[in-house]
This record gives sequence, C-alpha cells and structure tokens, in this order.
Amino acid sequence: SLAVRDVHLAFGPHQVLRGADLDVARGGTACVIGPSGSGKSTLLRTINRLIEPDRGDVLLDGRSVLGDDPDALRQRIGMVFQQFNLFPHMTVLRNLTLALRKLKKLPEDEAVQVARAQLDLVGLAHKAEARPAQLSGGQQQRVAIARALALRPQVMLFDEATSALDPELVKGVLGVMADLSAAGMTMVVVTHEMGFAREVADTVAFMDAGVVLEAGPPAAVFEAPEHPRLRRFLSQVL
Ligand code: ATP
Ligand code: MG
Repeated sequence: SLAVRDVHLAFGPHQVLRGADLDVARGGTACVIGPSGSGKSTLLRTINRLIEPDRGDVLLDGRSVLGDDPDALRQRIGMVFQQFNLFPHMTVLRNLTLALRKLKKLPEDEAVQVARAQLDLVGLAHKAEARPAQLSGGQQQRVAIARALALRPQVMLFDEATSALDPELVKGVLGVMADLSAAGMTMVVVTHEMGFAREVADTVAFMDAGVVLEAGPPAAVFEAPEHPRLRRFLSQVL
C-alpha cells in the first residue's frame, strides 16, 4: 500500500502542498483530478522523491520512503510523464536495456531478454530497433511505460500520460494503463480523462489548492460530490 501523510511543500514563498493525504491499497488505482496549479504533479513528484517534502511522510507498505536512497526508490516507484522523456539517439530496445544494465546491473543478454518481453506486452516488439522519432506519440508513450515496467516497480505513477497525444492515440495508451491496473499494479494516475477515472480507479482524489479536498470511490465522487469546489470542477469538465 501507498500512503501520503500530511505532505507540505513550498517553492520559496509559494506554498504548493498544504497537508496533502492520499491512500492507495496494494494493487489499487487512485486517480488524481483537479484544476491546473492545484499541486497534482508536485504531489506525484514527492512520492518518488524527485522533490523532498518540507513536512509529512510517504509510506510504502507502512514504511517511510524518505530515508531511502532515491535511485533505489525510483526502481520501486516507476513514473511516466506527459512528455515521454525517451533518449532520442538510442533505439527503443536500448532505451529499455540501459536502465536494466545501469540500475539492475543485468548482463546485456538478460537485459535484452527482459526488454523484448516487456515491449511485447505493450504491443511493440516489432519496434525494438526503431528510434523514438520514428514512432507515433502513442507508441513512444507505450515505450516509456514499458521502460518503467521493465524495472519491476511496486508502484507506478502517471502524470497526464495521455495529455500530449493526438486524440486517436489516447485510447491505446489508456488501454495499456487499464490492463496494468487490472493486473494488480498499484498506481497513482493524474489525469483529465474522467472516463478512465470512472472505470478504472478504486479511488478518485480531488486536489485543490495543495490538499486532497475529497476522495472516495468513483461513484461517490462523480455522482454525489460533497464539496462545492468539486461540484464546480465537475460541472466544468464533465
Ligand atoms: P497542471 O494540471 O497544470 O499540470 P498541477 O496540479 O500539476 O497543474 P503543479 O505542477 O503541481 O500543478 O504546480 C502547483 C503549483 O506549484 C503551481 O502554481 C506551479 O507554478 C508551482 N510550481 C510547480 N513546480 C515549481 C517549481 N519547480 N518552482 C516553483 N514553482 C513551482
Ligand atoms: Mg501537472
């Protein structure tokens, strides 16, 4: 399970997180929704320690991750960004094997085996020798997901993974994410895709001004929102 407890974070004078809490059961999927600037990306980045919170804690299976080595932690908590962040000068296969060799210290032949198997799972085995620029945005994002999954993380974080994609490519990437959720991956998904949140999430968390203002099962959050701010947000996006 993953728990964010009372996390505070300021950038200089700007208080961005003001006591954010989030709970994701093991194997569960939490979707984080909320207005632009509410702190969704910042919250995700504190979970895998791209940013250190000023106060509060992040617990993985009941244990704080804040004392862990950040590089080791990022193998346990994978992250996928809106911009795919693939290495443009390397083949797709090499994008995957690099991390396996550097972080997992796998020998080349084993790294290639794991990478090919992972590419196969996202339907891109045939693109192993291509360069990222030769792929569609949707394919590049599936490579980025495969790269994170190849490290066998316990938790996956997605920050608007489909927002940069052409509309016709969104479905394929959401499909990979839904499959991953159904297969029992523990996930935190920041998304504007309310349909995905409704169908895939166990928990929907609404962030506003640096806190999770309301969280619950999708049916409760979407059909019976309690907080006026959430009601207003939903009336704008649904
Ligand atoms: P969006 O939906 O637009 O992606 P968000 O909810 O992900 O928004 P964040 O990116 O977490 O919002 O940003 C929250 C606030 O923190 C914003 O006001 C942003 O300008 C500020 N912020 C984010 N990163 C930094 C940074 N590195 N330095 C200073 N301010 C930052
Ligand atoms: Mg963001």
